[in-house]
Amino acid sequence: MNPSGWSRALFGADPKLRRMMTYWGATAALYTVFMAILIAAGSRGLIDHRAALGLSSYTAGCIVLSYLLVRFSAGIGLAPTGAAALQAVFAITCTIWAYSIFGPLRGAILMGLMVVVVFCTFALRPRQTLVLTAAAVGAMGVTMWWHQAHDPDNYPPLVEAVTFMIMAGCSMSVTLLTGEASKLRARLKGKKEALEQALETIRTLATVDELTALSNRRHMNEVLAQEERRHGAGTGTADRGTCIALLDIDFFKQINDRYGHATGDTVLRSFAAAARGELRAGDVLSRWGGEEFLLMLPDSGEPEARTVVERIRARVGALAVEGVADGHRISFSAGLTARRGGEALADTVNRADKALYQAKSAGRDRVVSA
Ligand code: GH3
Ligand code: MG
Ligand code: MG
Repeated sequence: MNPSGWSRALFGADPKLRRMMTYWGATAALYTVFMAILIAAGSRGLIDHRAALGLSSYTAGCIVLSYLLVRFSAGIGLAPTGAAALQAVFAITCTIWAYSIFGPLRGAILMGLMVVVVFCTFALRPRQTLVLTAAAVGAMGVTMWWHQAHDPDNYPPLVEAVTFMIMAGCSMSVTLLTGEASKLRARLKGKKEALEQALETIRTLATVDELTALSNRRHMNEVLAQEERRHGAGTGTADRGTCIALLDIDFFKQINDRYGHATGDTVLRSFAAAARGELRAGDVLSRWGGEEFLLMLPDSGEPEARTVVERIRARVGALAVEGVADGHRISFSAGLTARRGGEALADTVNRADKALYQAKSAGRDRVVSA
């Protein structure tokens, strides 16, 4: 679904940017809850009212600044990781400030640090998260030291020391654990990509002929079945229905015998490239077997289909293939027919095959209609 006008203006159109904006939205929601707690705690006298208002204003500023950083990161040349790191720095400063004003409740504030660490694992590399967490633990340690040095009554040194050790231990453990989770996620992502690649290869192998890069017989059968469904039984007409042509290179065995199998392969490739060059949009050419090709021409009357096959015949006749003697003209015979009424396309193919047989019997290098 395409983002609507206002959503695009607010959050951009690039899917990657929109994902980063979703993270920002989640962070903004958390900040809002934090501000509500601050104001509630301030109004009930749990913490100093003015200090609560000051930190709330700073937090609101962080929300706006984070939005601008993420939304316009590309415009100001800031990498997404840079924007995420700055957001983490805002969150760490909020936590340190809150620790300084929350009085006896300050221990609970430290849980906010864990949220910052987990946020970082989504946006930063494990090493960057580790450095940021170490910096946060260091800054928090300095804050605790400063408080116990200046206000030991409210910040008893022993309490601060034990709190610091628990906070440092938990933060570093969470960082290491989430780092492992990140590595696991990266490995899974790598495996998913490899699987997608393998699936693509299998899909190609299942549908494309390796030598000529045309559709293979298996895929062509699917295309024929689709065409049959598209036109339904009884709706196809000889005027603008589906035409089928079977093309078979003349005396191909002799080409192999005279110039070698490798040159025979080159002839097959050149034939495919030349024929493909004369197809219209919607026509499908496939390698039906050895040196035999099935061409499906949808929404075509027999005369139009014949024009296409004759064009291919002229182009193939003018081919100069490496390894094949000058003057050795490559030709093919073709049987062409239009689907009759709502008949099964397999019947149309059989009729084209009979017409091809007639073209061979009549001397080759020609198109016979049935
Ligand atoms: P005709 O004019 O009656 O069609 O004679 P032809 O020699 O073309 O027909 P025939 O069926 O006798 O021989 C087809 C040859 O195509 C036999 C086979 O070895 C060769 N062939 C089939 N597949 C390949 C391939 O992938 N590469 C090469 N080089 N030859 C192939
Ligand atoms: Mg042949
Ligand atoms: Mg053949």
